[in-house]
Amino acid sequence: MATKLLLTFAICRLIVTVGLTLEPTELLRLGLTVDPVDVESASVDFGLMTKVEPLAVLRPSSAEDVAQLVKAAYESSHGFTVSATGHGHSINGQAQTGTGVVVQMSGVRSSGKPSVWGGDMYVDVWGGELWIDVLKSCLEYGLAPKSWTDYLYLSVGGTLSNAGISGQAFHHGPQISNVHELDVVTGKGELMTCSKEQNPELFHAVLGGLGQFGIITRARISLEPAPQRVRWIRVLYSNFSAFTKDQEYLISLHGNQKFDYVEGFVIVDEGLINNWRSSFFSPRNPVKISSLGSNNNGGVLYCLEITKNYHESTAETIDQEIEALLKKLNFIPTSVFTTDLPYVDFLDRVHKAELKLRSKGMWEVPHPWLNLFVPKSKIADFDRGVFKGILGNKTSGPILIYPMNKNKWDDKSSVVTPDEDVFYLVAFLRSALDNGEETQSLEYLTNQNRLILKFCDEDGIKVKQYLPHYKTQSEWKEHYGSKWDRFQRMKMKFDPRHILASGQNIFTPTFLSSSKMASW
Ligand code: FAD
Repeated sequence: MATKLLLTFAICRLIVTVGLTLEPTELLRLGLTVDPVDVESASVDFGLMTKVEPLAVLRPSSAEDVAQLVKAAYESSHGFTVSATGHGHSINGQAQTGTGVVVQMSGVRSSGKPSVWGGDMYVDVWGGELWIDVLKSCLEYGLAPKSWTDYLYLSVGGTLSNAGISGQAFHHGPQISNVHELDVVTGKGELMTCSKEQNPELFHAVLGGLGQFGIITRARISLEPAPQRVRWIRVLYSNFSAFTKDQEYLISLHGNQKFDYVEGFVIVDEGLINNWRSSFFSPRNPVKISSLGSNNNGGVLYCLEITKNYHESTAETIDQEIEALLKKLNFIPTSVFTTDLPYVDFLDRVHKAELKLRSKGMWEVPHPWLNLFVPKSKIADFDRGVFKGILGNKTSGPILIYPMNKNKWDDKSSVVTPDEDVFYLVAFLRSALDNGEETQSLEYLTNQNRLILKFCDEDGIKVKQYLPHYKTQSEWKEHYGSKWDRFQRMKMKFDPRHILASGQNIFTPTFLSSSKMASW
């Protein structure tokens, strides 16, 4: 009882502060809370580099709850911001806000299960649903989404606000290329359904839109028959040009005679071979980098990671198919590592590593990640200047590298990618540790990120950041290039008071840039 009274008092204070037109009982019904535990958890993210406390947290139970809150924000006399968060796996506070309410989309109070429409091959899911739960629901029908992220404990709304990429993207495109329809609460508090045919401007703006135009409350995602098993193969290269030539060849293949997943990573120090992404190499089968010729190559090796999905009924032919594909590649012959596992275990592979790191207290540490899209024509320069230059021989985490085909990305979406038919994702997924080793400190790694960006700038490598992070609007304008005008127009149309996802630092909420700022 006392807690409820305190909560009501805190909410009344909030109402006065932000000029809300809703009654306290109505706010409580919507799921608004100022409970310190909720507020604390909404004030940090996976990056652990920014801490911003919201005024309150909303735990909605429906799209209508979200719409009612955003409408109240839009109509409030003082104005306040609203930021959706999924699983809080951003790096730089993108889902945080200090001037309003965080809408906690994942773990909603009455989340219905995803609705699978087997005949039409799609699934309707709540925007805060985690991909792992989408997968489990679809598998009950023998179906699965086509395009993934490497890690499944991310929300549908969170990855669709970025792009959602993994080793399937070369063939199926990013996750945003595999969405039929969305329900979105705009910055005016309107709940709208959109698709390529219905409200197409909103649909394209929201996909990859960094949460700027609306809160995704439902997504209709395309499905395919789920494979049963996966043959997972890793091969090593000491020659970068052979490595990228093979990756580019593999993503140019179509039809059945191709791998289903193409990724890769860079190994600059021997410790990495046993790091969290590389539990694949078993202790019974130790890999000695020095025996593989990396010494002639500045100590750098490249690992191609590929998979072939199959159904138990086609198990006899899988070996021949893989053999035929591998024959065309130029990896170090003695470096083929193969494993075979159920499809769900392959997709959920990073979670196992997460549990291991958590048990060692190494998950909840700062993550100064940097993700770049690098044009194919400059990837060799990038290798020379960064992998064999700036990085030195310590990396503090995995470095992924894999190419994608631009024609699988819809240019109408809000995402920006390099202006070439093929571009690479290079992802520096590093963890900072406070263990006295300078090369693992947050400061060192952050500075290295700066050096990488500076090198690209000075060398004319026109990279685009994925999961971008900038501090000023002029940097954002440069990031969006020719898409900026449209991006800004869509913002004016769907979120004219700039109240949504202010943690991205793209637009200043209008109530903060006016004289009303004094009331904060
Ligand atoms: P949050 O961090 O909560 O939100 C991110 C942004 O989206 C914020 O601006 C927020 O306001 C907005 N947002 C959240 N929900 C909604 C919604 N329903 N509607 C509108 N806007 C919303 N990405 C890949 O593409 N591929 C990968 O393989 C991959 N692997 C990852 C592995 C790990 C361990 C981690 C931590 C991240 C990884 N990511 C990957 C990045 C990830 O896709 C993004 O960080 C994504 O934003 C995380 O989703 P989230 O639900 O935690 O979003």
